[in-house]
Amino acid sequence: MKIFTTKNELRQYLQEVNKAGQTIGFVPTMGALHLGHLSLLAQARQQTDVTVCSIFVNPTQFNDPKDLEKYPRPIAADIEKLQQAGCHVLFNPPVSEMYAGDEHWHLDIGELEHLLEGKFRPGHYQGVMQVVYKLFDMVKPDKAFFGQKDYQQVMVISRMVALMNLPVEIVMCPIEREADGLAMSSRNIHLTTDDRQHALILSKALYATQSGFNINRISDIQHEAAAMINAEPGTVLEYFEIADGDTLHAANQNSAKIVALVAAKVGATRLIDNVIIR
Ligand code: AMP
Repeated sequence: MKIFTTKNELRQYLQEVNKAGQTIGFVPTMGALHLGHLSLLAQARQQTDVTVCSIFVNPTQFNDPKDLEKYPRPIAADIEKLQQAGCHVLFNPPVSEMYAGDEHWHLDIGELEHLLEGKFRPGHYQGVMQVVYKLFDMVKPDKAFFGQKDYQQVMVISRMVALMNLPVEIVMCPIEREADGLAMSSRNIHLTTDDRQHALILSKALYATQSGFNINRISDIQHEAAAMINAEPGTVLEYFEIADGDTLHAANQNSAKIVALVAAKVGATRLIDNVIIR
């Protein structure tokens, strides 16, 4: 695996890949890699010739400085995992390589930015778009692979790609879970043994919503799921929404896609999860 820390080295290498007529598959991450990340990489390997993974803990998408500070950064273990997984290129830049200093970014994507996650993490999606735009510009991928785990993020990136007419196909990959249902996340390592048990209520509530789904009882089902989570010790619910999968507004009879999405603090750790219902 080639490892680059500067955009010039990365660009030079990928120019040769382009010249050789090979397609590029890109998996952007913040590291602390788990099987969820590796499933995106496996998709990239299947669908494109050369896979590029980036590991960059992007400061502009953190609205909580403590969260940024304590974000796990096990780079040696990550390199090992990527090598084992057959990744071709790792891009692991320092912050100075990505940001020139005093930079401003804003792209108007309408209310999508302010719903659900956007409401609880103001500015988060502007930071996400800022870094993904830069990374797309450096990598120039044919396809980029994102997890359904961050459903709203996939919508935000897709909106940016459409608005800016970027020549990349966005591929959404399913959520990888632990055997007991917990969605894999780099933040799970912060969970204490008790938290880890309490955290299961999120996937349980999502699965209960999925299996008991009835289009005529959306708000009741939503309240029941919220009540389940609120009853769990050590867990503070931020939102549980049965949403239209295209708008993220409350789902209704006419919604072609329906997704249930949840965010909660379990102990000191903020977790998100979702299931696609329709
Ligand atoms: P992160 O490192 O958390 O920024 O995530 C990098 C990419 O991995 C994003 O596209 C995430 O949606 C995706 N991802 C994170 N967790 C999972 C998971 N459990 N299953 C599938 N993809 C995931």
